[in-house]
Amino acid sequence: MIFINNINIIDKLYESHFASKLELVQLISTINDEEAEYLRKKAQDTALSVFQNKIYLRGLIEFSSYCKNDCYYCGLQKSNSSVVRYRLSKDEILQCCENGYKLGFKTFVLQGGEDLYFNDEYMGAIVREIREKYPDCAITLSLGERSCKSYEYLFKCGANRYLLRHETADFEHYSKLHPPSMSLKNRIQCLYDLKKIGYQVGAGFMVGSPFQTVENLAEDLIFLHKLKPHMCGIGPFIHHSSTRFANKPDGDVRQCLILLAIIRLMHPNILLPATTALATLDENGREQGILFGANVIMPNLSPLNHRKDYSLYENKAYSGCEAAENLKYLSEKVRAVGYKIVSDRGDYIK
Ligand code: SAH
Repeated sequence: MIFINNINIIDKLYESHFASKLELVQLISTINDEEAEYLRKKAQDTALSVFQNKIYLRGLIEFSSYCKNDCYYCGLQKSNSSVVRYRLSKDEILQCCENGYKLGFKTFVLQGGEDLYFNDEYMGAIVREIREKYPDCAITLSLGERSCKSYEYLFKCGANRYLLRHETADFEHYSKLHPPSMSLKNRIQCLYDLKKIGYQVGAGFMVGSPFQTVENLAEDLIFLHKLKPHMCGIGPFIHHSSTRFANKPDGDVRQCLILLAIIRLMHPNILLPATTALATLDENGREQGILFGANVIMPNLSPLNHRKDYSLYENKAYSGCEAAENLKYLSEKVRAVGYKIVSDRGDYIK
């Protein structure tokens, strides 16, 4: 057997944007701090060469905490009777966009539980109105699994991007995180449908989700290599006390940073956020994420009175730097590590 050390694997990722599953498993499970720093520098170089030191902003509008699904990890699962359910009206969503636009946001991300109240007609009307009022902005949807027809319709109404994390690329692992009514096959189909329709598509997964193995993480990376999404959202799993995973340990911040860096090397142009979950577990998570190759931040534009109720997980950060209204503070923190927040739309560039 030819022995390939971690530095060789990192060099290979840097040069050819690929490594085998075995190599990825080895790298993720045995990388030491010195090698992690080598990886970090390569990822940072790659991001800097594509995006310079620009960080793109996405304004997150969490418009509904209702959900028909029961994802075992998520605080918004329909079985959780202790969560406060709310939905924003079209006018409230438009108000969020107006606030965001004034602050310099050029992307609005509409995210919610799978809430049937927002059927195609209503969702389409919301998208059309945002499109009309803000022709220079990107509209990103994150509404979970819908029919191909529905995705097509919303695209025609003016949506440009869609975030749908695949959550895990392993069928057995998927079934440990979701009820039998949900299927990885369908989720993957949705991702391919969205791509075909013309959306810029974001996949992604949690790091350290219950029952996840290092092999699963390597499979996630191989899946991303096949799908070639335009964006990828990853963040540590964080327990929520009203779910069956209340006692499961939270994901590891270091491992999440290492995965961000690997994803950057495998997809030099990908739009890669330093996520709220990362910032929730580590007060420097956002800056660390950027130093490991992330180039997007998604501050919260939801109305203040509802923010605490969009509780995907415990202690989800929604104030301070996570809050869109504190953009100045966030800009300073980003500047302190050598980057600058820009108000570009930040589309995917081939
Ligand atoms: N209903 C939409 C949005 C889901 S919430 C959809 O199905 O795509 C957005 C993401 O938050 C999820 O895809 C999941 O990866 C993440 N998430 C949910 N619960 C979490 C938890 N307990 N810890 C960390 N991330 C979580």
